[in-house]
Amino acid sequence: MSDYEDLLDKGLEEADETSQGERFELPEAETRKEGSKTILENFKEIAETVGREEKHFSKFIQDELGTNGHIEGSELVLNGEFRRGNVNGRIENYARDWVYCPECESPDTKIVKEKGVEMMKCQACGARNPV
Ligand SMILES: [Zn+2]
Repeated sequence: MSDYEDLLDKGLEEADETSQGERFELPEAETRKEGSKTILENFKEIAETVGREEKHFSKFIQDELGTNGHIEGSELVLNGEFRRGNVNGRIENYARDWVYCPECESPDTKIVKEKGVEMMKCQACGARNPV
C-alpha cells in the first residue's frame, strides 16, 4: 500500500469517527390529503437525503402503492388515499433496496451501471451488489 493510499484510509477512518452518533436519518414522511389525492410534502427533501434521482424515487413509491402520480415542485402528488404510515413504509423499502449497503449498512452508496446492470456501489466498504 502506498503512503498516499494509507493517508486516504486514515482520512476515511477519521471521517467515520466524526460521523459516529450522527447517523444518517431518513426523514419521516409528511403527508396531507387533498380530496382523493395524497401529497407527500417532503418528497424532495427525502430524495435529496438519500441522494437519488427524484424520478427514480417517485416511480418506486408509485409502484409500491400501486398507483400513479406526479411531482409538483417539492411535493409528490399521489392518486388515492394513503395513510402516512403506509407511505412511510414504502420510503423505508426504498432505502432498504436502493440506499443502504447490504454488506455494511452504510447509506453512502451510489448506483452505477455495469454492462447494462444496475449495481449499488458502497463508498464505505467498496461492496458492489446488483439492485
Ligand atoms: Zn458497504
